[in-house]
Amino acid sequence: MTIQWFPGHMAKARREITEKLKMIDVVIELVDARIPLASRNPMIDEIVSSKPRLILLNKADMADDQKTNEWKHYFQSLGHKALPIDSQTGKGVKAIPGAARELMSDKIDRMIEKGMKPRAVRALILGIPNVGKSTLINRLAGKKIAKTGDRPGITKKQQWIKVGDEMDLLDTPGILWPKFEDQQTGYKLAATGAIKDEILDFQDISVFVLKFLSIHYPDRLMDRYKLESIPEDVVELFDEIGKKRGFLMSGGWIDYDKTAETVLRELRSGKLGDVTLETPER
Ligand code: GDP
Repeated sequence: MTIQWFPGHMAKARREITEKLKMIDVVIELVDARIPLASRNPMIDEIVSSKPRLILLNKADMADDQKTNEWKHYFQSLGHKALPIDSQTGKGVKAIPGAARELMSDKIDRMIEKGMKPRAVRALILGIPNVGKSTLINRLAGKKIAKTGDRPGITKKQQWIKVGDEMDLLDTPGILWPKFEDQQTGYKLAATGAIKDEILDFQDISVFVLKFLSIHYPDRLMDRYKLESIPEDVVELFDEIGKKRGFLMSGGWIDYDKTAETVLRELRSGKLGDVTLETPER
């Protein structure tokens, strides 16, 4: 579900998260491995600066493994811990409590020095809508936890979920707004289904995707749509794909809507292979 974020909503979300941060040791920031920057909240560093952070590259099953590895190193170079995961199947999820605990090792050492019994790490999951927060919480909990609406303002009683002996997780994630900064970011969010298509022009999203694939994954395009080469002009590329699929209207015109819709559906369902739409800057 996509909600419209107004300044009031943003202020409230921020306030609610700041309140939750008081109870926790480690922030688990969930991003989409296909768009690790575009899927981050623009103010995350400012909002959670006081806590150590574990960045989870979720939906890694749909992302390009090599790029995911580059992103992992990128986030680690910023001083965070980073892990690729797939919340849907649970791949990589087992490593989360241990990684969270490592981020708190100084605090634990101090507790031991003081003769205190070290307790479980208290963690909070944060991320933009649709990034997979509920799926991950259910995975970690080993059962289905009621989902809070992606609306700031709908609150329920906060509870802790025990994840083994090592970690206690708040059962309600912190929901932050996505970036609205530039059109490229919007296209990336729309291409991966993080925001609704209606927010941007459908064909424009598809043009963005086709241009990107032409440069970074030309073989996939050629394979999938049985093209001999990739036309430089994206309109010609549309024509070729539409023709191959038989998306013709009366008069022999290509049905661009249907072509655009097909490309996006096939990207999102993985038929174009594992695709990452962003590369870390060196
Ligand atoms: P939330 O809004 O952040 O709580 O996101 P949800 O947990 O509702 O997930 C949004 C969509 O992403 C759902 O359709 C999930 O099934 C899907 N999803 C979540 N995690 C993964 C993952 O690791 N891999 C894949 N392929 N899909 C996922």
